[in-house]
Amino acid sequence: MSSYNILEVRSSSRAQMIDITEQVRQLVADAGIREGVCYLYVPHTTAAVIINENADPTVVQDILEQLEKMVPWQGGYAHTEGNAAAHIKASILGASQTILIGSGRLVLGAWQGIFLCEFDGPRQRKVFVKIIAG
Ligand code: ZN
Repeated sequence: MSSYNILEVRSSSRAQMIDITEQVRQLVADAGIREGVCYLYVPHTTAAVIINENADPTVVQDILEQLEKMVPWQGGYAHTEGNAAAHIKASILGASQTILIGSGRLVLGAWQGIFLCEFDGPRQRKVFVKIIAG
């Protein structure tokens, strides 16, 4: 039995941002703590986890489109597996996030949500969620 939770996330396209805010909120609620920290980590080299706006879906669209312009799928890369762009995008955005827990809830801004960012899908992904009281 591991000391952290694992969220299973299924992506459906090559590049995609999947809102996992509610699943993380539920884990925090289930933990039953008032104050602490929620640590999120993706154990993947071509996926990332970020916090950004989940109210207007054009924000997600713009992030994905601009990342594609910055790091196009076909780019004359050295990595022969064919997914170098996905490795680079995942590195830019990062594999972890830390969110405070206050009054038993995730402390997120009004417009903030948590996204698993897929860059080499579709695939089955995992998000490790460690909830620490304190
Ligand atoms: Zn690769």
